[in-house]
Amino acid sequence: MGRIMKSAAALLLIAFGTGCAGENINQKLYTGGFIAMDTYISLTLYGESGEKASAECKKEIERLEAMFSVTDENSEISLINNAQGAKTTVSAETAELIDFALKAGDISGGCLDITVYPVVREWGFTTGEYKVPDPDSLSELLKNTGYEKVILENNALTLPPDGKIDLGAVAKGYAGDKAIEILKNNGIVSGLISLGGNIQTIGGKPDGTPWNVAVRDPFSEDNFGILKIKDRAIVTSGNYERFFEENGKIYHHIIDPSDGYPADNGIVSATVIGDKGALCDALSTAVFVMGTEKSEELWRSRGDFEMILVTDEKEIFITEGIYDSFENTSDMEMKVIYKKQ
Ligand code: AMP
Ligand code: MG
Repeated sequence: MGRIMKSAAALLLIAFGTGCAGENINQKLYTGGFIAMDTYISLTLYGESGEKASAECKKEIERLEAMFSVTDENSEISLINNAQGAKTTVSAETAELIDFALKAGDISGGCLDITVYPVVREWGFTTGEYKVPDPDSLSELLKNTGYEKVILENNALTLPPDGKIDLGAVAKGYAGDKAIEILKNNGIVSGLISLGGNIQTIGGKPDGTPWNVAVRDPFSEDNFGILKIKDRAIVTSGNYERFFEENGKIYHHIIDPSDGYPADNGIVSATVIGDKGALCDALSTAVFVMGTEKSEELWRSRGDFEMILVTDEKEIFITEGIYDSFENTSDMEMKVIYKKQ
């Protein structure tokens, strides 16, 4: 068994500049954080009730974790996974997130697939007991995967007898959306929440300028660029986030559902920018698996997200809608993806 690693966040809030006075410049600052969903969650909030808002976010995220966690035997997901093919009724909220993830499976051509969980577990990515599975056990496990085998009728779910699901690829983004709602309801007009690889913002900085979010360079401990963002979710999926090394080869945690091996379609980091954390989370995982060409097609067919992809050839692909907001601080070449080729 080689090294086991789980690295620091993929996205980082950086440098509060002092800009010209904006309308929220006199708001009270609260910074804090807590651990939930297996990650450190930090908040930077401007408003009178930052501390109360943060405490409410913690409670909400813990509630969601208790429902969605695949390793918690009492979660609704475990209830489904232990049902051995029987129909299981879950809460409307869990059913809705599953429905959303299944639709993301559809739009990504099956590259996002919540039923890939038994394979992820076999690699040890959810247990910490990392190993390269033998090909026979992988093909055996792949017989029970396939998001299209999930039957969802209202709040009742049926899986194949050995089928299991995991919302790990979308849950943090969804939790971020719920947290943003709570923050807004508490009067936060300028704020940022960071959930590991996910950053979600309310407005810009109090001086009216955008938040500066650094995106981690997959080839070093450094960043490769800075995104200037207001009112957006930014989610990165990277091969460096969770991986292990065996016999000199690196195996990372995002699995290609078509063969059960870590996705190897040329992308080493995928950042998706949009209005909603859940969509960005689903799509960052999906485009990581899809590769650049299919991701470009998906981006052209929709109007609700932008993306920055880094390839194993050390190239950056960036969609035109976010190009002006991104400063490339690396020496990697940057190619712009346009709507019309
Ligand atoms: P993310 O960090 O959002 O990219 O999600 C990655 C996590 O989702 C992994 O740690 C697995 O638990 C799970 N996962 C891995 N590959 C896939 C996939 N192709 N579709 C859905 N979930 C996946
Ligand atoms: Mg994701």
